[in-house]
Amino acid sequence: MNRTTLFLTITGVLLAVVLLFSFFLSYKEPKGFVVTATFYPLAYVAQEVGGEYITVFTITPPGAEAHHYEPTPRDISRITRSHLFLMNGGGLDPWADRLLSSLQESGIPVVVMADRFTTQDPHFWIDPLFMKEYVEAVRDQLVLLDSKNKIYYQENAQKLLLALNNLHKEYVIGLSTCSKRDAIVMHEAFGYIEARYGLVFHSLAGISPEAEPSPRRIADLADLAREHNISIIFFETQVSPRVATTIAKEVGAETRLLHPIESLSKQEKAEGHSYISLMQKNLQELRKALECE
Ligand SMILES: [Zn+2]
Repeated sequence: MNRTTLFLTITGVLLAVVLLFSFFLSYKEPKGFVVTATFYPLAYVAQEVGGEYITVFTITPPGAEAHHYEPTPRDISRITRSHLFLMNGGGLDPWADRLLSSLQESGIPVVVMADRFTTQDPHFWIDPLFMKEYVEAVRDQLVLLDSKNKIYYQENAQKLLLALNNLHKEYVIGLSTCSKRDAIVMHEAFGYIEARYGLVFHSLAGISPEAEPSPRRIADLADLAREHNISIIFFETQVSPRVATTIAKEVGAETRLLHPIESLSKQEKAEGHSYISLMQKNLQELRKALECE
């Protein structure tokens, strides 16, 4: 063995040792009960209610679009190793339906939010009062799973329920004095806001966002914008803003973000945003678009 080979061998061995160590250092055993949620709103609720006694994993990655996400093998293994699985159902996270029977076999409790509602549109969380159902469902499961920390979960849930009541009040007051009622949105994610607060949203796509809406639909919405004197077209984070910009240009309107809160981007996370703060931001955007006093 000459010197160079010896040197390379030693360097190689050292590198392997360092890599192995850093792997062990970076691997952290999840703390307490492991809860896996298909998407952000459920993960948010679990984290708020479960606090320090649980570790929450969100399957839909930051900024990804929930409706069309396909889980990786790593996601599946994470789900099958958790103590509780939370999904929305109703077609929002259709991939999770395919896991239900095997989860049932392995005895992992599953919460399917859509089972608790009678309406078709799966975007329940966008209504602060419907979001309370999410809190109650998660709280009840955590209490079942870990009854010795029952009081802790109940108190956390109570705080969040109160915050949601306050959010609802902000919406009622904030949207009570608007000169317009019509808005244009990208997909039917805000139907419960319309129903709850008496607004009319015209949407480009249906229940799930589309990449390429028909030129006919775009033209119809442009006509509608003119008819209702709409000066702001809402786009969404998970969908390209191109279509909203096209309509806005055609009618001389502005584009603004209305967040469906299906997932948070890395930047929104870094800025400390949460369900509540994004809902408040949405309210400000709506007030501006609908010209509320
Ligand atoms: Zn959606």
